[in-house]
Amino acid sequence: MMGDVAEILIHSDQIQQKVRELGGQITEDYQGKRPLLVGILRGATIVMADIMRQIDLPCEIDFMEVSSYGSGTTSSGVVRILKDLEEDISGRHVIIIEDIIDTGLTLSYITRALRTRRPASLEICALLTKPSRRKVDLDVRYLGFEIPDEFVIGYGLDYAGSYRNLPHICVLKPEVFQGTPT
Ligand code: 5GP
Ligand code: MG
Ligand code: MG
Repeated sequence: MMGDVAEILIHSDQIQQKVRELGGQITEDYQGKRPLLVGILRGATIVMADIMRQIDLPCEIDFMEVSSYGSGTTSSGVVRILKDLEEDISGRHVIIIEDIIDTGLTLSYITRALRTRRPASLEICALLTKPSRRKVDLDVRYLGFEIPDEFVIGYGLDYAGSYRNLPHICVLKPEVFQGTPT
């Protein structure tokens, strides 16, 4: 699989260091509370698994899966909930765990939807962001890395369903995008 990779953008050691920092911040900020971590499937599964083990507090997890309507690689902002939360979040301290923020439209929709359920608090934790692509303002309390406008894979992020199990955040070779067997 690493043979398809053009460049390692963020090495797994750097990711683990950052995840420890973010988990430490969350631990400090939520003293005396029992946060509910909401992972956005499927990209956030890896960062969720790692960050929850760096949070030294009683906490719970839940997952939501959304799909963006519209074609192409950019989201339209119209989001459909494919899998909703199992938990009632009213009165809960909710932290959304996301792999990457691109335009911000997906998270903007999700935060609006979750706020109507009256959580005690609602914050966003995202491993990656592409600031140059942002279309809507988002208040991201816990942020890992800012990256340039490049399509990245690995550490949960996929291309056509694959590469999520790579330990690093990588950029693929251009030829991979031209008709690979899936
Ligand atoms: P947004 O609504 O912020 O434009 O899109 C966010 C979603 O698009 C992410 O959760 C992710 O699923 C997908 N996405 C955005 N940029 C990338 C990228 O560079 N690589 C991968 N694999 N997915 C991305
Ligand atoms: Mg995602
Ligand atoms: Mg994807």
